Order: sequence, then structure tokens, then C-alpha cells
Amino acid sequence: MLKFALAGNPNSGKTTLFNALTGSTAHVGNWPGVTVDKKEGVYKKGPEPVEIIDLPGIYSLSPYTPEEVITRNYLLDGEASCIINIVDATNLERNLYLTTQIMEVDIPIVVALNMADVLRKNGDTIDVKTLERRIGLPVVEISALKGDNIDLLMERALQAVKEKRTGTSILKQSVIWPAISNAEIALKLKDVPAPLFHAIKLVEKDEIEVKNHPAEARAAQAFIKENVCKKEENGIDAEAEIADARYKYITAHFSSTLTRARKPSYDHLSKSDKADRVLTHKIWGLPIFLVILFLIFHLTFSDDLFFIGAMTNGFGGHAETLAEHPVGYIFFGGGLNTPGMILFNLMDTFTGLIGEGLTLGFEAMQAHPGLTDFIVEGAWGGIASVLSFLPQILVLFLFFSILEDTGYMARVAFMLDRIFRRFGVSGRAFMPMIMGFGCSVPAMINTRTMADEKEREATLRVIPFFTCGAKTPILLAVAGAFVTYFKIGNADVITYAMYLAGIVAAMIALLVMRSTTKRGEASPFIMELPTYHLPGFKNLMLHLWDKSKHFLQKAFTIILLSCIIIRLLSTFSWDWSYIGEDMDRSILASLGQFVQPIFTPLGFGSQIPQYGWVFAVAAVTGLIAKEDVIATFGTLAACLGAVLSQEQLDGGVAQVAYLIEVTGITKAAVISFIIFNMLTIPCFAAVAAAKGETAKGKFKWTLLFWIATSYIAGAAVYTVGEFVWPVAIWVAAIAAAVVGIVIYNKKMNKKEARAKLLGQ
Ligand code: GDP
Ligand code: MG
Repeated sequence: MLKFALAGNPNSGKTTLFNALTGSTAHVGNWPGVTVDKKEGVYKKGPEPVEIIDLPGIYSLSPYTPEEVITRNYLLDGEASCIINIVDATNLERNLYLTTQIMEVDIPIVVALNMADVLRKNGDTIDVKTLERRIGLPVVEISALKGDNIDLLMERALQAVKEKRTGTSILKQSVIWPAISNAEIALKLKDVPAPLFHAIKLVEKDEIEVKNHPAEARAAQAFIKENVCKKEENGIDAEAEIADARYKYITAHFSSTLTRARKPSYDHLSKSDKADRVLTHKIWGLPIFLVILFLIFHLTFSDDLFFIGAMTNGFGGHAETLAEHPVGYIFFGGGLNTPGMILFNLMDTFTGLIGEGLTLGFEAMQAHPGLTDFIVEGAWGGIASVLSFLPQILVLFLFFSILEDTGYMARVAFMLDRIFRRFGVSGRAFMPMIMGFGCSVPAMINTRTMADEKEREATLRVIPFFTCGAKTPILLAVAGAFVTYFKIGNADVITYAMYLAGIVAAMIALLVMRSTTKRGEASPFIMELPTYHLPGFKNLMLHLWDKSKHFLQKAFTIILLSCIIIRLLSTFSWDWSYIGEDMDRSILASLGQFVQPIFTPLGFGSQIPQYGWVFAVAAVTGLIAKEDVIATFGTLAACLGAVLSQEQLDGGVAQVAYLIEVTGITKAAVISFIIFNMLTIPCFAAVAAAKGETAKGKFKWTLLFWIATSYIAGAAVYTVGEFVWPVAIWVAAIAAAVVGIVIYNKKMNKKEARAKLLGQ
């Protein structure tokens, strides 16, 4: 079967085109040996089926990042029958830079000028015929999003495959061309495939190339010294010379085919630039981001939309009446419910109905009450408490995906770079961190894009501090229960504050690490800002579907199993006799009591009067999957509730509130519990991923780091919460001293570095 590879810059529309070409036939895997998405699918609308491969997005074929290495190797392997080079027509010069490199390989190529719809809307035109003639490759204007011209694109590609193609270069007018030409001859003599491409990289002193052909590399450098540098006064940097030659050629010959409706000038900024003037403003940019973030949390977690209820005294008391109504509660809480809250309530009703259905079903079958209790309260109780948070997690992700798809997240990375630098990491660390809000595993893998090893390891360690989807239920349930039981604050504000607390913890940890064990300066960060665009609806839905699938799979496997085990262990004593109501005698209780003292300094250990082992058990089961913390509470609370007060407890919030009441845990300890779980060792999957990404033998330090950070932070919060002011002053003093030392260290570091530079 013919194989067409899609290559282009990140955000040029490769995946969109891929989806349009292959429909739903995509197969997603990983590139052998590395965890970068590999997408393969089949295009079936032509005369013969064609396999389509979505290559990782790259800006150049110089192998610095894993994405670049993968794409380059794939193109050089000769596996592809044709390369479809996707070019974002709204960003022509930058995108064609890659094109000028791809055309040096001996494979048929078709250029797809994507985003034709945007171009048209802006009133800009590209003279495709002239561009085609000058570039020497077939060019087709398409819109991957609208599906315009994509069949024509495939037709042209099928035509192109019929002829053999040898690489061409636009570097012929460059002063360095003789050196390239010379190297090409040498490589041809060695029968190297794609000699032109390799010759150019060799002259650029590309690492891989120099390793593969050391003799030719030396010859090329000698040639440059002899024949090229003599003519140039200041010597020559081959790599810079070649990059410069490419841009100059592109500007002179290719970009002139683009006619803009309006000349870009300061009076006529594009909409995107205008938006950027506000959104990435030096002073307002960041506060705007924080406000957007708060709005997202508010719309997801609050039961009082835009605080209207609070301002109108709950619509003059009506909200309260409506919230008591069996259907009204779905839409009304403290005021009008937010979209996230409405979905939460719907899910609540749904899981409640299933629970009741199960009970009725077992009663009808006249099953043993022990079995009914085991399934309904134990297994289902636990799962339901986790499931109840799925809608809000999805809403949160919908918002995050929108921010990412529109191109706003890239701007945030750019703005944060300035601040991140002070903490010793570059803006490049932002993407893995944001991904950490979803799941630590892909986020940790994404740190591979960071070149500096120490910077990368430090980032890897703080990724779990960014509250992931599985930890969200902990925050929601415990924060919700906190508000319900202690009647303080708003659940959305607490949740937002906890998310921010995670970020602050990450920054402090980075600062400390980068000036002690992982000392170093932030690496440079260059990125291109894509123009803003509306997010694609289909794309968003695909994201959400992926997320839900993952969540449900986990709920009905690991978490279900954990609930069953927890329920079993809390039903029987060590001699496997059924203990019924006396849960304190269960196996689980004695295991919990064994580890309980460890948590005493954190406030949820031995000092809790009743059932204190519940918290110890939850903290430990959280190591399997973070949802298990809430599932454990759910299972145990459902059982305790049934036993102690014959109450039916629906949803995670009610369950945790009940546990707070029964155990008599203090406010400070509840917060310490959240903090501990946010910062401690992540779940198994994330631990495995982090281990895989860490150098051999060093992982124990990462584990130790997580344990120490979470323990110290939890203990500090608890101590401050219980004893408040005297201790707070001490802690603040110590923190100030640490920060002082760190900053002093940094200054000395810089001085040393400068001294070294001058000394040379
Ligand atoms: P990739 O990084 O190259 O895979 O790019 P994507 O396929 O993810 O596309 C990046 C963004 O560009 C998405 O938000 C797409 O919806 C959008 N996009 C892709 N093709 C087009 C197009 O032809 N027209 C418009 N207006 N937007 C597009
Ligand atoms: Mg993509």
C-alpha cells in the first residue's frame, strides 16, 4: 500500500487534515522506543487505498527534539511514498522554512497550503501557479477544517508518486554552496542515499551527521576554511549562514506570491495582534489569566452563578425553597447553579437512581442482606462517589481544551517564561505543567522536549503538584464537605485556592531545587505564537471523549476492585469472622491503626477520637489511584452511615461530610489532609512514568522529595492551623530565611559564572 506522510509545523493543521482524510479509521500508537503519538489511518476515497501517517509537528529537520528526530528518520527511511507538506498559509515564511529542508530529500512531495479559508476571509491571496513554478513542487490550496480541496490534494499526490524525484535545494546561490556540492560528491561516492540532504547537514555540522560520516565532515570543514572563509572577512558559521540563506530566499522568491488585502502596519494590526496587545500585556496579561482561570473554576464548581444569589439574598429566599424541590435542586443552590454544578446534580440523581435500582433488584431477588449491603454500599457506594465528579472534571477540561485550541495557552507559556526564569526554568516547562492538570503520565513524558537534564528532572518532580483529574475529586469532595460541615467559605473558592496552592508549592520547590541540588540557569526558550482561531467542535469532543473513556475504564477496573477489597477488609476480622457493625475490629482498621501514628504530626493520625484509621487508609490507597482516596471514603462512609444512623448518603461530598462529623477531625487537619494528598507520591502509573524518565539509580531521590515535601507541608499547615499565630510567625521567619539564602546563592552563582567567562 502507498504511504503518505503528513509533515509540517506544529499547529499547521496536520491532525485536522489527517482526520479529514482518514475519517474514523485512525490507529494511535507510539513511535517505537519513544512515547510520541503515532497516528496511522487509511484514505479510501481514491482509486486505491493509501496509508496516511501523521508525523510529529516540527519547525526544522535539525535533530534537537525527539519530534524532530522521529520525523527526520521517518523521511530518510524511504518508507513514505510521498510527503504531504502542510504549510499554514497565514504564516507562510515561517512554514516554508521547513519546506526548503524537506525538498532536499529524494521523495515526491506535495505542498498543501492550509487555512485557505482564513486567507480568504482576510482578503489575502496567494498566486499558487507562480509559487508552484518557483518552488518546483505541486502546490494545492486547501482547508483541512472545511474539507476544501483535500481530494484534489490526494489526486496530485498520487500523480507525484508516479515519478521518481531527487532532492533540490534553494541554497545554490549561497556562498557555502561549493562546500555542499563538494560534500555531496563525496557522499555519492559512498553510495549514501539522499546525498544532498546529508551533505547540507554535514556542512551544518549536524551532530548525527558528523557522527555517521566523520571523514567527510572533516573534509567539509577544511573545504570551508580553504575556499569559503577566505572570501569572507569575519569567518563563517555554516549553520547560521545556511539558515539565513533559506530565509532570504524565501522572502525574495516565495513570500512575494502572497498579496495581502491590507499591509500589516501598526494602524492595521490583525485581530490576533490586537487581541495579543491586551491578553499578553506586560502588566495585565497575567492578572487576566488568573481571572480567566477563576472564571473557569467558578463556572465549573460554584452553586451560585456570578454570585447573584449572594447579592440578592438567594433571590429573596426563593433559591432555598427551589433547592429543596426534588427537581429544582438541579438548577438552584445558593443562587442559580453553574453549568458544572447542574451536570454534577444530574449525575448525582443518576447514580442515586442506580443505587436505589440495585437495592430494589436485590430485594426482589430476596438476596442475602449482607450481599446487598456489600454490592450497594460497598462497591457501588465507592464508585458512585468517584463518578459523581466526572461531569465537573469534563467541564473543566472542556474549558482547558478551548484555551489550548484557540492558541491562548501558547501565549500564557510565553508570558510565564519571564516569571518562570526567576525560578530557574524556562517557559517550555509550562506545557508539561498544564498537561499535569489532566494527568501526570503524559505530562512527565512531555518533559522530553526540555533539553537541559537538570531543569527537566526538577520539572518532572513538581508535575504531580499540578492537581490532576484524579486528584480533583479529593479537592471537590473534601472542600465541599468542609463547607457543608464547618459552614465556612465557598467550595469553588477553596478548590481554586487549592489548585493555586499546588502551583505555588511547585514554584517554591523549583526555586529551592534549582539553587541547591539541581543548580543551573534556565535554558533559552523560543516559540512562535500561532494566530488565534476558534476551536474546532469535533476536536473538543474528541478530547472529552478520550478523557471520559479513560476515567470510566479506571472507575470500573482499578477503583471497583479497590472498593471491593476495602469493603471485604472492613467486613471481616483477622480470623475471617463477620464483624458486622463493629468496624473497628476489622482487618482494615487494624492495618490502618498500624500506620495511623505516622500521620499524627499532620493532624489525621492518632489524635482523631473515632475511626481515625479511615484517613490513614485513604492516604495509602491513594497510592494505587488518586480516585481511591474518595472511593475509600465513599465505601467506608456508606457503610458507617448505614450502620450508625441508617442514613443513605449520596455523593462524595455528603459522604466526606459525614466522615468529618463521625471522626471529629479538625479543620486544620482536613486542610492538611488535602495538602498531603496533593503533594505526596502520585499514583502507581505516574511513579512508573517518572521512574522511566529519570536516570538510573536517581529515582529514590525523587520519591524522597515527594514524601518529604508532602509531609512537611502537611505538618506545617496543621501546626499553623491549630496553634495559629505564634507558630505562623516562626514559619514565616524560617521561610524568609530560606528564600534569602536561595536568592543569595543565585547571585553568587551568577557572579561565579561571569568570573569564569571573563577568566577565559
Ligand atoms: P497540528 O498541530 O498540525 O496537528 O494542527 P491541528 O490539526 O491540531 O490544527 C491546529 C488548529 O488549527 C486547530 O484548532 C484546527 O481546528 C485549526 N485548523 C486546522 N486546519 C484549519 C483550516 O483549514 N482552517 C482553519 N480556519 N483552521 C484550521
Ligand atoms: Mg497534531
